[in-house]
Amino acid sequence: MEKVDILLVNAFILTMDSSKSQVPSGAVAVRGQKILEVGPESELRARYESSSTIDCQGKILMPGLVNAHTHVPMTLLRGLADDLRLDVWLMGYMMPVEREFVSPQFVRLGTSLACAELIRSGVTTFADMYYFEDDVASATAEAGMRGVCGESVMKFPTPDAKFYEESLEYSREFIKKWKGHPLIVPSIAPHAPYTCTSEILRASAELAMEFDIPLQIHISETQLEVENMRRDQGMPVVPWVKKQGLLEAKVLAAHCVWIDDGEMRTLLHAHSGVAHNPSSNLKLASGAAPVKRMLDNGLNVGIGTDGPASNNDLDMFEEVRLAAFLAKTTSNDPTALPAQQALEMSTSMGARALHIGDITGSIESGKRADLILVDLSRLHSSPHFQRDPNATYAQLVYSAKSSDVSDVMVDGKWLMQDKVLLTINESEILREAQDYARKIDTFLIQREESVLSKLIAVGGLTEEESFEVQAKIAITEPEQVIKALESSRVEILRRRHYHEYDTYFIFEDESQGFLRYREDHFIDDRGQITNVRSRLTLIGEAVEFRFPHDVLLSRSRYLAPATQSLRFYREYFQPVKEVEIEKDRQRFLVNYKGEEFFINIDKMINPSLGSFLEIKSRTWSRQDAEQKSKLSIELIKTLHEGPLEMVSKDYFEASK
Ligand SMILES: [Zn+2]
Repeated sequence: MEKVDILLVNAFILTMDSSKSQVPSGAVAVRGQKILEVGPESELRARYESSSTIDCQGKILMPGLVNAHTHVPMTLLRGLADDLRLDVWLMGYMMPVEREFVSPQFVRLGTSLACAELIRSGVTTFADMYYFEDDVASATAEAGMRGVCGESVMKFPTPDAKFYEESLEYSREFIKKWKGHPLIVPSIAPHAPYTCTSEILRASAELAMEFDIPLQIHISETQLEVENMRRDQGMPVVPWVKKQGLLEAKVLAAHCVWIDDGEMRTLLHAHSGVAHNPSSNLKLASGAAPVKRMLDNGLNVGIGTDGPASNNDLDMFEEVRLAAFLAKTTSNDPTALPAQQALEMSTSMGARALHIGDITGSIESGKRADLILVDLSRLHSSPHFQRDPNATYAQLVYSAKSSDVSDVMVDGKWLMQDKVLLTINESEILREAQDYARKIDTFLIQREESVLSKLIAVGGLTEEESFEVQAKIAITEPEQVIKALESSRVEILRRRHYHEYDTYFIFEDESQGFLRYREDHFIDDRGQITNVRSRLTLIGEAVEFRFPHDVLLSRSRYLAPATQSLRFYREYFQPVKEVEIEKDRQRFLVNYKGEEFFINIDKMINPSLGSFLEIKSRTWSRQDAEQKSKLSIELIKTLHEGPLEMVSKDYFEASK
């Protein structure tokens, strides 16, 4: 008799090997990290003996599930912000909170929490992309799980890098450290084509090839991403990343919701794997990935939960079922993606998509012992039929629940037995996670109280508080004023002409001021639009001081380039009201008696309120403001004849 470390007997084995063999009264012999043999119990009992012989009580013994795409530390952000559009959710909530809170400690805790949840639901392997990935890998290895761990790289500052070069440097060290580890496969994860530059994609692919490790990336998650790529680069996403050399690496492409057949073939020829994330795609309304066509094209498609902040759980049983349902309903064909194939996607094919199909994903001699026991004797799975050989797959996919998983083994070691976690202290983790939730809540509650702090959170403030002297007067002949300016002795330093489209966001609490989204269309001498610029300005309500003739000293202003769409800001700031203003503006920067002034000559188009002459100048002291107030009046008198009747309120006040 040959000695083995563990002998599992009395199991119904679904091997998920290439011939999908099933062993009804089966046994598995485990030695060290690996499966030594799989077969009928009578044969294995005759050949092997073990001091650890486990009676599986007729449960299903199958390969552990492979979660092909996730961001495990985001368990700590689960339920933080929901029912939002992807960009508002990501740029407005996830990224600002991540910048504030994500640290090695955060990442370790989030990973441990995720591992506990993953083990409980029968997952033995997952592919992750996040920050401080060294800590993700450490916590994963401590929990005893198998992980393809990818350090995220993007063009924006991240919680662990101000510049992408730092992420690449970090990745190199991270890969060197973990390469060859029994549980961890290091990886690199350029976040997505729209959050990376072509240099980042190239450098990431080169690093992946240098160390022969997988590269993870989000591809064609939303229709908007594809539209933008077509507009900017004249091609869909997959050909573009191929052009950047990305597909030379062993790619795992998450989502691929909006790829066409040509792109599928490109991915197939590059031996890229795909991670399908049904819950995330459904919840964020990203669309339904063409899974049936990808499978028909021969692609290895795994199934993933995506991050727990966009799902909101890591339950792969739910995910597999959804994948099957979604494929059926979108192809209008109930025979599409049958249960066996869905289960294959979440085991052996999933492992191949992660480029680790040689070590895990099936119950076969020589593979690592990554396996689970599932109890199909509970109410919701009963009774059982023998006629259809696929009945067990159907039961697992359509009626079993993650809570039916009783035992989990990874790399020959038990991580859960009889529903007791052996490597993770659940209650301690839950307590620490709640501590984080309290801190994040406080941070967000404070931020939501102020439009300014919300503006700061989405980044890019270029100018802080300032004061201006303003004088404004209604005019009837704008051309006359321009002529007067041109023929005066006022020195014109710069002249611009634009068409301005303003949207003012008005808030319930008027002391917040109002937020202006402005699109400037620059117009050249021939009346053509040469450039478009979008900016956000937070304008304070208060008038600080009134000089004679109603010249105002007013308005604190915070200026930021508007890098997102108007729709994004509307959904993010949620104003109670909006006011739109459109005007034609001739803007002059002049030097008058040694001081700089802006002279705006505006024709109001919407609402049509006539024309205005406006003099403005930045100021920093009361004395300077008084001087500029006097000069403003002089300037108006130089350019315009008639009574000095100032318009002290802003135009939009009239339409408010
Ligand atoms: Zn993702």
